Amino acid sequence: MPELTILTALSIEALAVGGPTTVVGMGPANAATAGARLAGTLPAGAPVAVTGVGGGISPDLRSGQVVVASEVRTLEPGGPTVVPLPGARLVADELARVGLAVRIGPVASSPRLLSRRQRAALAGSGALLVDMESGWLARQLAGHPLAVVRVAADSAEHGPVRGGLRTIGPLMGIRPPLERWARALGQRQVLLAGPRSFCAGVERAVDIVERALARFGSPVYVRRQIVHNRHVVADLQRRGAVFVEEVDEVPVGATCVLAAHGVAPEVHLQAERRHLNVIDATCPLVAKVHAEARRFARQGRQLVLIGHGDHEEVVGTMGEAPKRTHLVETVADVEHLPLRRDEPVAYLTQTTLAVDETASIVSALEERFSDVTGPPASDICYATQNRQDAVAALAARCDLLLVVGSPNSSNTVRLVEVARRRGCRAELVDDERHLQLSWLDGVTTVGITAGASAPEWLVQRVVDRLGLLGPLDVREQRITTETVEFSLPQKVR
Ligand code: SF4
Repeated sequence: MPELTILTALSIEALAVGGPTTVVGMGPANAATAGARLAGTLPAGAPVAVTGVGGGISPDLRSGQVVVASEVRTLEPGGPTVVPLPGARLVADELARVGLAVRIGPVASSPRLLSRRQRAALAGSGALLVDMESGWLARQLAGHPLAVVRVAADSAEHGPVRGGLRTIGPLMGIRPPLERWARALGQRQVLLAGPRSFCAGVERAVDIVERALARFGSPVYVRRQIVHNRHVVADLQRRGAVFVEEVDEVPVGATCVLAAHGVAPEVHLQAERRHLNVIDATCPLVAKVHAEARRFARQGRQLVLIGHGDHEEVVGTMGEAPKRTHLVETVADVEHLPLRRDEPVAYLTQTTLAVDETASIVSALEERFSDVTGPPASDICYATQNRQDAVAALAARCDLLLVVGSPNSSNTVRLVEVARRRGCRAELVDDERHLQLSWLDGVTTVGITAGASAPEWLVQRVVDRLGLLGPLDVREQRITTETVEFSLPQKVR
């Protein structure tokens, strides 16, 4: 991608921005002339950023706020020319990431200086700010990726800022984010891992809350995050679900859904004492691990649970036989188990671990104890396994793997680790706003997957955002098709 060209109207603005900057002069005539010259000399597709100060239009815009133009429109007697700037959101997020106060919206370009009163009269137009160059530059530079970033020198309502520092200060910080935007531009291949996103257990849990809301009305209480994804939780909250930490926060007799990760038997007892209408959304594959824990405990074995101690699934499973369950997170932990070598031991696994890591812990257990048994089939669930296999298949083919999901989702974090262990750069993104432009410098193939608790629409948003940087060739690399479905609890069928 050719180098970024930064344009300002005034030398003082260029000085504040720093580095190589082209001063085009003030006003439409200077802008049109400079735009025509640049259109003839810049390499095809070279990115351009127009920056400097502007006058506030929006009554709530404050001096020193940075405005990234979502479009520029000229205020001309013959009617406006409107140039949309679809990449504005990316630029705005990158500027916000360095601590600037950023607004995004239309910027008007006026052929003459406007008084505060004239600007106030434009407030209903939706434009945030006015300048005297961007519209004419944008018209000449059609075909070049363009960013327009202006700092409000004054606001229509509150008047000019005292001293220029609040205006000049933000200009001093905008070059690095703009350069990151420019370096991230380009055409790319996107490889979507398949399977990705919701598993059958998550589909079922979300469905249970939706059906409970439809059947019993709002509010329906949900103990803990129904699945570990903040977007899913926020969506259900908007629809009337109330999330609580413990069942003693739920009013006596109310409807309460227990989350997909499962709970200890003690939680069921607490719910019974409060006469709650309990609907258990525990994934059947987690419930299977609970059943195994009870069975091994009945056999008199010590239980070794391989998992992460802070995860709700582990807390729930340990509650089945708390006095005889020991948590192991690493191979080193096996050595420190307070058990005799000939003690009968059974191991169980959190359903969402990395398959390859767990195998080494099981080997260590088999070495340390003479009587070790485990579940007939791995506790690591089909969805975890499939998503990890899909990432493993993709890792060698991408320069960067984006894993969509929340940081508290165990299976999502494991996908990042699986990719990194295979030498692939991988980053977790909770949603499209977390995509950092610096990750994309020199990247031509991006893999995308999503944890089992992240909805597919989040994946689509990440793809759409990448599309703001250049044309995409999107393909899916599917290793298997999932057909698993779980039946719903009787109360919401
Ligand atoms: S990841 Fe596996 S265990 Fe967890 S909810 Fe999905 S299917 Fe169930």
